[in-house]
Amino acid sequence: MSGRVVLVGAGPGDPDLITVRGAAALAAADVVLYDSLATKELLGLAPAHAERVDVGKRGHDAPTRPQDEINALIVEHARAGKVVVRLKGGDPFVFGRGGEEASACAKAGIRCEIVPGVTSALAAPAYAGIPVTDRRHGASFAVVTGHKDPGRPAEETRWGQLGVAVDTLVILMGMRNLADIVDKLVAGGRDPATPSAAVMRGTLGTQRVVVAPLHELPARVRASGLGAPATVVVGDVVKLRDEIGWWEREPLFGMRVLVTRAAAQSAELASALRTAGAEPVLMPLIDLVAPDDPARLTALDEALESLADYDGLVFASSNGVRFLAARARARTGDLSAFRGQVFCVGQKTAEAALAVGLPVHLVASGRSDAEGLLAQILQAAPAKGRSFLLPRSDVGRTVIADGLRAAGARVDSVEAYRNVRPEVDVAALHRDLAAGTLGALTFTSPSTVEHFDDLLQDDAARRAVGDCIVAAVGTTTAAALRARGIEPDVVPKRPEPRALVEALTAHVRALHDENHSENRDETGDER
Ligand code: SAH
Repeated sequence: MSGRVVLVGAGPGDPDLITVRGAAALAAADVVLYDSLATKELLGLAPAHAERVDVGKRGHDAPTRPQDEINALIVEHARAGKVVVRLKGGDPFVFGRGGEEASACAKAGIRCEIVPGVTSALAAPAYAGIPVTDRRHGASFAVVTGHKDPGRPAEETRWGQLGVAVDTLVILMGMRNLADIVDKLVAGGRDPATPSAAVMRGTLGTQRVVVAPLHELPARVRASGLGAPATVVVGDVVKLRDEIGWWEREPLFGMRVLVTRAAAQSAELASALRTAGAEPVLMPLIDLVAPDDPARLTALDEALESLADYDGLVFASSNGVRFLAARARARTGDLSAFRGQVFCVGQKTAEAALAVGLPVHLVASGRSDAEGLLAQILQAAPAKGRSFLLPRSDVGRTVIADGLRAAGARVDSVEAYRNVRPEVDVAALHRDLAAGTLGALTFTSPSTVEHFDDLLQDDAARRAVGDCIVAAVGTTTAAALRARGIEPDVVPKRPEPRALVEALTAHVRALHDENHSENRDETGDER
């Protein structure tokens, strides 16, 4: 058994800022030991079987797990033959005690690989529009910790000297001692008027930035209620924020957006939302599982065994593809026995089909829903006498099956997966609705709509939904919303997560422009 350890930098906050290699290491992990700073969502990249252990240190005062214990845990798991990923916030070697963990591995004779990460020391300033070097303002930077180690009596950082030795100072863990640090920098000769900034929760939709001259920064930070985790930047480069600042100007910046999609599939939508500046609020309202009814499983297995007999395979969603392929893997191997044509609703479904080795013949274009695909299948060739297999969910619509049968085809519509309702924090949802803190709600299937509607407890909650922007991924989901009395504001042309976010962005922009023109009317300015 050859266990090994990979120290992986998780990046500064936005889970998309992990490196490609870091993501690959997670995908190969047997055990993930993670920090409180490392984004929990990254844990979804580890395989289902991987053990996930929170070894987070919880800041200055809370009881923290001693580093020795973490080191011992790492070594113990590796000795048991496991691939151990130690996931650490930012970069593992920037104030992350990654060095100590690597030493522990070296002493124990365990292979230890390092995957550097995007450090918050650079990413938080970048998301605040502050380059740490710039030919016009600064040619050097230093990254310093502002946290006094209680285990060490003497303070080692010579702030006075450091402050005048480099152009840009980046201070991590500096919020608590900020006033003291600023005093020392100024006493050492740094200009008290030096432009400075504190960036809290950098790279996230909840990022907050305070800018002030150095000597005023502590008071301004206090007044604004900024706290950890935050990065402090001191130097003339901070001036550039006015011009370069970009993150807060992203169209959906700061908007909390409810994501109701199944947990296993929410990553793309969440990522697209984050890229636009939003803060996805993950509340999966459906979960997809394999059929459990023996009769239905038998029907699915029989269809798999006679794959070669079908002329057409019709998928209404990528889930149908995934579950059919998974069942095939568990039973007969793969889907290569199928020799007919593959029809898909939506580009994502087609990609999923290609990914499991199925050639795709037709993707519904234009009206890319079940009705659209049915029309195109019928248009391409007469259905009479042909046989089709439709792997579907337990609650799927029957538009295609009915239409093909009516046209004289033989249709086997088999249950390949089931929709189940996961447990939901209903109280949290109602709190958010009551407080009006959800800017938008997204729905990607009729079952998410139905579950959501069933969760709404009173008229107040229903009214609150009316105040949110409601987005449906496609026409079927939009119809399900209308059936429940909720009018969708946003329906993208293509039923895909990225298109959904683009359409939401366009909607928000339009609302914004409308408000602006209204304001201009009121003040009598130009229209
Ligand atoms: N290894 C990490 C740093 C660990 S020390 C890295 O390379 O980023 C923890 C400190 O990092 C915090 O106290 C704060 O100063 C900074 N930090 C972490 N995440 C941050 C974020 N999202 N925004 C601003 N600062 C952050």
